[in-house]
Amino acid sequence: MSTIITQKNISKIFKDFKGHKFQALHDINLTIEEGEFFILLGPSGCGKSTLLRIMSHLESDFKGTQEYRSDIRREDMAFVFQQFALLPWLTVEQNVSIGLEARGELTKENKKEIAELLKSLGLEKFAHEYPKGLSGGMKQRVGIARALAVNPKIMFLDEPFSALDSFNAKTLRADLIKIWKERKMTVVMVTHNIEEALELGDRIGIMSSRPGTLGEIVVNTLPRPRELRSKEFFDMEDKLTSLVKI
Ligand code: ADP
Ligand code: MG
Repeated sequence: MSTIITQKNISKIFKDFKGHKFQALHDINLTIEEGEFFILLGPSGCGKSTLLRIMSHLESDFKGTQEYRSDIRREDMAFVFQQFALLPWLTVEQNVSIGLEARGELTKENKKEIAELLKSLGLEKFAHEYPKGLSGGMKQRVGIARALAVNPKIMFLDEPFSALDSFNAKTLRADLIKIWKERKMTVVMVTHNIEEALELGDRIGIMSSRPGTLGEIVVNTLPRPRELRSKEFFDMEDKLTSLVKI
């Protein structure tokens, strides 16, 4: 395994319209290892999204340094949003193709791959539908397919299941694990859900608020697939609960 992202002394200050400063992140030091499933866990408002946005180049205004392994380009990263962020005037297929199209890489071969991708996520019947007609679960499937379409080495997900009902969330978590294993991607995902963190993560970074700091990083040694009702799972859940401060 090799380090793919290195963050040193990352801080972020927001200013409101009156010029008042608010420190959202304070002195974060974090490395992400190739191929791992890393979780950022913490209560609402502790800076998880801000840190993920910095890590994924969506936010460039911050203090500290951030380095990527030399082979990692911006195009190797993809982002899945909590509220899906689909373009309503494009069909499912067009939404999923948008990254490749923007790069001028929408070839015949790629179009075939996109059809395969839609199929693997159970979206093939909806390829020519517009997002408006889809359920939340289906919309997030489109969000995930759009991210995967560019063949990312690193996938960032910001609370991807928190807007979904528990049944859809459960199925999509299982699908995400399958995709992560098949593609051997690196995943960095934000959640405020302890059970979800333990079901998915290899390492779980615990954040706390005011200002947002990164505390302990818990190594999740539970064997996969994770048995959510085992004593070991409950013990880890207790441990994480004691570490997360609201
Ligand atoms: P989380 O994802 O953990 O809920 P965020 O990263 O969204 O937290 O936000 C961290 C803190 O920074 C919150 O207090 C939030 O109100 C504040 N914040 C986030 N974005 C902005 C912004 N664009 N302008 C001002 N404050 C912001
Ligand atoms: Mg957030």
